[in-house]
Amino acid sequence: MNFHVLTLFPEMIEQGLSESITGRALKQNIISLDTVNIRDFANNKHNKVDDYTYGGGAGMLMQAEPVYGAIKSVTDKIKHPCRVIYVTPQGKRFDQHMAMDFAGNEDLVFLCGHYEGIDERVLEETVTDYVSIGDYVLTGGELAAMVMIDAISRLVPGVLHNDISAETESFHGKLLEYPQYSRPFSWHGKEVPAVLMSGNQKQIDAWRLEQSIMRTRQRRPDLYDEYQKLSKCREFLLDNNKLLHIDMIELINRGRAEIIYGEDDEYLLRDINTGIGFHTKPEGAIAFAFDIEDNMKPACIILHQTKYIKQLEEAGYNNNAVCKQAVWTRREKMPARGLYKTDAGITEDGYTIKLLCRDDFEAAAKLYKGFDGDGYLYDRIMDGAVYGAFDIERLIGVIGLHEEGSIGMLSVDPEYRRKKLAMALETYIFNLAIEKGQIPYGQVIIGNEASMALQKKLGLYFSKTDIVWMENKKISVEK
Ligand code: SAM
Repeated sequence: MNFHVLTLFPEMIEQGLSESITGRALKQNIISLDTVNIRDFANNKHNKVDDYTYGGGAGMLMQAEPVYGAIKSVTDKIKHPCRVIYVTPQGKRFDQHMAMDFAGNEDLVFLCGHYEGIDERVLEETVTDYVSIGDYVLTGGELAAMVMIDAISRLVPGVLHNDISAETESFHGKLLEYPQYSRPFSWHGKEVPAVLMSGNQKQIDAWRLEQSIMRTRQRRPDLYDEYQKLSKCREFLLDNNKLLHIDMIELINRGRAEIIYGEDDEYLLRDINTGIGFHTKPEGAIAFAFDIEDNMKPACIILHQTKYIKQLEEAGYNNNAVCKQAVWTRREKMPARGLYKTDAGITEDGYTIKLLCRDDFEAAAKLYKGFDGDGYLYDRIMDGAVYGAFDIERLIGVIGLHEEGSIGMLSVDPEYRRKKLAMALETYIFNLAIEKGQIPYGQVIIGNEASMALQKKLGLYFSKTDIVWMENKKISVEK
């Protein structure tokens, strides 16, 4: 992932990010940092980039032309469209969800203001996102950009050595993190809570959850309120056709769900990362969907009751796919089918399974023909969500995590079929999810008998009824 920062103080950014975890990620080229001095684009001999404001008022303003020149120098180099973020106290408040959203981009451009800010006209022409780090005014945007880059970087695969830690921290699941302790056991007469010394992981997890809930209630009643609503929805889904609602349950478990409509036995959830909507049943939610602002309407909705397909079609949505949810219902890992050992990325025939990177894209695109085109596959690879099996250097099979959380994209090179490769790939990725404490699931399109048979063989259970992917192209285009 590449960060580009336009600033009057490049050293401040370079020095600030060169230490600790971001510094290591920069050295290892997992992220890159390119600072551009806006002053280099001044068009006068004193390199002045600010001037008085029209209409009077205290302070100076950064002029449009040097800022424009600096932005163009970066966007011309990147070539593909990218997000240009102006850090400003007038922006939307930065939070963990926004960090997750930004972390999915290959390039991000940050524009740091100074003095009284920047001439409005260049902002109108270039900026895609206005973001604030809080309701206070800083002297310049550099610290704000660094705060955001730090939070985004640690979500980029490989930056934190242990990806699990980013997922268990505060905000990922609406709850603040539990208290933590390290050596010595006794300090200033205070001992580490006994449960943490018990070695009983189940009890430790239960204690931590209880502490998280208590802490959130005391310190952040606003988050606690959201947590309670989601817990109620989760309970409803668990008690009502759990296998059918596994995608919604997991969305909540993974801290990505937002309730946009919730009443009694009817919920419309939205995936904070992708904007995809999930319904239990749509009657009220449809009416609601047409009352809400366009940018709140999901372009894609996963229906959990097929009898409402017509209703959604009349409302402008197309039926894209009818599927069954296939779920691994046990807590323990899948047995090593097709794999040398359960967690070894080596298949029985000696092929290696590993995470794909940008260089593997072309080979992967030949194997996986998704219905969203190659752009989707590329984005998933860049998000660190696609794995492949290799016969030495040759990519012979792929599998991945879809953007909304289901496992899919399974495809195997025809020359390598009947070698239990599909089983090995699926077992491998399902076990990775189980390790993270998730309930792994996939969605099998009705009629795909080969996939149905494979899932059954692996020990997955199917939802009795179907889910339907409904898409409203107009909303995606308008967005
Ligand atoms: N006159 C501006 C206003 O009232 O919106 C404030 C200008 S501020 C003194 C100078 C620069 O600091 C801004 O252009 C912005 O880039 C940055 N900045 C200040 N506070 C910020 C915040 N809370 N979040 C993000 N950036 C901030």
